Amino acid sequence: MTFDPKPIRWIELGLPHPHDPERMMRLKADGPFALRRFYFTPDRDAELELHLDERTQNGGLNGCLACGGKELFARKDFPPALGITIVVVAAVLAPFTMYISLAVAALLDFILYQTARESLVCYRCSAEHNGFAKEPRHPRFDRTIAERLKFGEKAVMGSPMREGGTANAPDPEH
Ligand SMILES: [Zn+2]
Repeated sequence: MTFDPKPIRWIELGLPHPHDPERMMRLKADGPFALRRFYFTPDRDAELELHLDERTQNGGLNGCLACGGKELFARKDFPPALGITIVVVAAVLAPFTMYISLAVAALLDFILYQTARESLVCYRCSAEHNGFAKEPRHPRFDRTIAERLKFGEKAVMGSPMREGGTANAPDPEH
């Protein structure tokens, strides 16, 4: 008999290397509360300290575990190539299926998108957080937040940065 345990609840982090932010390190743990505060990088050339204070009591996130930044955005992990493939196949089949294939493709894309895993990504350091609780909710990407963090508060017109970050903030209007 073989035993192939499937984790019931797990989280995955994509963390930028402290010395080389372009390099992303993957870290998996058995749920939000299995994380430790300190880790070595895979090559043991640096130490990481996670900002576990940003984790809520319910296993959600108020901010980034890698840098402590308060601004996160939600991104669907839906491979665009898959969506395009479905549309192309449906278009090829369209004349033979009385164009029903197009409707099926639209429905399929919709379902895939809705069920796709969602990452919470940090505006400041690009760290990715998967598998955390849905509350507090973080809206999708907002260009004005990204530009403010890059160029400074005065560089962008419009409403100022939200106090306390993006936790439970409304979706951007643009
Ligand atoms: Zn961050």
